[in-house]
Amino acid sequence: MNEQLAILGGSKIKTTPYGTGRRFGEEEVKELVEALEQNTLFYHSGRKVKQFLERFNALYGVTYSVATSSGTGALHVAIGSAGISVGDEVITSPITDAGSIIGILYQNAIPVFADLDPHTYNMTAETIRARITPKTKAIIVVHLAGNPADMDPIMELAREHGLIVIEDCAQSYLTYYKGRLVGTLGDYGCFSTNDYKHISTGDGGIVTVNSQSEEDNQRTHAFADKNYGRFGNLVQREMRLLAPNYRMTELQGAVGIAQLSKLIWICDKRSHYGDRLTSGIKDIPGIIPHEVTSDGRCTYWFYMFTIEPSVLSCSRDDFAEALQAEGIDCSAGYIPQPVYMQPMFQKREAYTGSHFPFDLSDIAYAEGLCPAAEHILKHAIRVPINEFYSEQDIEDMIAGIRKVAAHYSGSGSEVV
Ligand SMILES: *Cc1c(COP(=O)(O)O)cnc(C)c1O
Repeated sequence: MNEQLAILGGSKIKTTPYGTGRRFGEEEVKELVEALEQNTLFYHSGRKVKQFLERFNALYGVTYSVATSSGTGALHVAIGSAGISVGDEVITSPITDAGSIIGILYQNAIPVFADLDPHTYNMTAETIRARITPKTKAIIVVHLAGNPADMDPIMELAREHGLIVIEDCAQSYLTYYKGRLVGTLGDYGCFSTNDYKHISTGDGGIVTVNSQSEEDNQRTHAFADKNYGRFGNLVQREMRLLAPNYRMTELQGAVGIAQLSKLIWICDKRSHYGDRLTSGIKDIPGIIPHEVTSDGRCTYWFYMFTIEPSVLSCSRDDFAEALQAEGIDCSAGYIPQPVYMQPMFQKREAYTGSHFPFDLSDIAYAEGLCPAAEHILKHAIRVPINEFYSEQDIEDMIAGIRKVAAHYSGSGSEVV
């Protein structure tokens, strides 16, 4: 016998507020004051951005990284310094932030979308392979929502075709794949510290340069700073090639130092809560949990399950509404449509009044291009995961999902 749904007048599952907490404290204040006392907020003159990167490198076990003003900037810097140029094709995910796409188009290269695994929500070597042409130069692998993509076959494919691999780790801090951190596996790893990410500097980003080449590091560093080469006391200002200014300031670096010291705790909590949620809902008919890539650790920027309407007698939107009525935060879907359905792609217009660079390519951006991605966006329900939640919050989420699913499955329909 099931309890009546809250949306039909029954009592709610969740009666206590979700756990909350403060992301910034005395540690950030101390670092910010020190930054200001330097009497400069310029990264090249001060110590804070340098220290932020030193700490990040130590945490990630990498030699080289470059700070940027955003995650979008980090991705553009990787794309630009890798030499991606006019008319090149870059394969990426149809379920991602605009930031994965922007740098491709600023380099006048062509975004190409590969389909996703229906349950991990990431591209696979097979879906990428189907999109490779003689013009393909790079792959931007988005590790969505803290979940690693299956990188070994992707790297093998990339090496086979001589492609650059850029990892978009904006949603995937301390995400492991076969015991190795994502962001250290491809040629570049790009991170965001915008205010919604695992850690925040207000805005900001990081690019890891994984080739271990000092020359690659210098080119990447310069691409984030107008192609000026600032190393030690030498400044090289010759305008050789176009590059933007995506510099991080000392204020962001200062906050970043303090935020990094909380990152392990944040990711451990999120990982634990997301995995607990999976174990609590994985046996429910009609519910498919957020599948972590095998041999992976997911640090859940959010949690997204999908429903099977053939098993449940409700639509995805009905399920989400009923779950919300139970007091469980959730939203129907993620982005409304795959990226290629956005007007910029449908009209093939990135620059006002021009079809460049789309007119260099005959790639079509039509509905049906990535069926699994389209299916995910129509059937997914996203629930937030936060490090400040309590164990009870997670148990309530499980109870809420179980209650709603029971109502809309065979057993639930017995309730009158
Ligand atoms: C947030 C995000 C970005 C862009 O980061 P910004 O700092 O907002 O520019 C890029 N890719 C993904 C997957 C993101 O989630």
